[in-house]
Amino acid sequence: MPVSPSLASSARRLASVFLDCVYPNRCMVCENLLEFGAADWVCRNCAPLLVPISGPVCEKCGKPLGGGECNEGYEGGDECNGGYECNERYEGSGKGNKWYGGKGNGGNESNKGYGGGNAEAGALCRTCARRERFFGKNTAFFPYDPVVRELIHRFKYGGRPRYAVGLARMICGRIGPEFWRGADAFAAVPMYPRKKKERGYNQAEELALAVSGLTGVPVDRDCLARVSDTKPQSGLGPAARANNVRDAFKAGKSRVPAARSYIIFDDVYTTGETISACARVLLENGAGRADGFTLAIAVGEKKKDKA
Ligand SMILES: [Zn+2]
Ligand SMILES: [Zn+2]
Repeated sequence: MPVSPSLASSARRLASVFLDCVYPNRCMVCENLLEFGAADWVCRNCAPLLVPISGPVCEKCGKPLGGGECNEGYEGGDECNGGYECNERYEGSGKGNKWYGGKGNGGNESNKGYGGGNAEAGALCRTCARRERFFGKNTAFFPYDPVVRELIHRFKYGGRPRYAVGLARMICGRIGPEFWRGADAFAAVPMYPRKKKERGYNQAEELALAVSGLTGVPVDRDCLARVSDTKPQSGLGPAARANNVRDAFKAGKSRVPAARSYIIFDDVYTTGETISACARVLLENGAGRADGFTLAIAVGEKKKDKA
């Protein structure tokens, strides 16, 4: 029997409320049940393990400055696989963890110490000092340490697109309006259509949509398209990585309004080639600016098994 679209959508909404009651939210780190009505999707025990970046960062890529230089050993893009070793200095110290226990919307107070605010003007990491990038700047939220790697792995491959909602709350509670101020639209690094169909969702797009829901900045879902299913980046040298993604993206179905300012979402920033390639497409199609936002950034030492 045919079902009308509005009936189907009401049924979906009802089902979602029902599921929330039967399957309440679980901690995004340990997967234990959260207390009913918990503001954040991380339990008290795990909260100290999940610490966003604070202190001076590279003005271009958002990587913490003054520590290990990495970036060539870990694959970003679509494979959350090994090849990357975390830098020990990010073991959860609990510092910078102010959103826990609070509402997460504490205004400016919680923003101190985050991101480029503390970096010396023009401070660049070694990688950014060497390479040209098409994006304006990237904001990275977490260091890509083992806890974050696990979480992102489940978000991407574990059928948990809802993590986007919990993550968006943390992000907005922590970094506040200076992050999205001036952006006309969000975009997401697109997945190859067949891959997206298999996975059922694009985690970068889910994150952009969830942050959009909290900030009111619209998501332009059709400004970018992926034309080739790039190989995993692991094991490729810097030049090969750049070639691997350079032609992977093209303009999507929607026209980019002149001078529009974008923030492109992705899960992990490794070499920056992916965000840069997407930014290039947007700029070539009329955008005025394209910045990046990544859930995490590789910060550790390069693993020496693959040059
Ligand atoms: Zn937990
Ligand atoms: Zn940098």
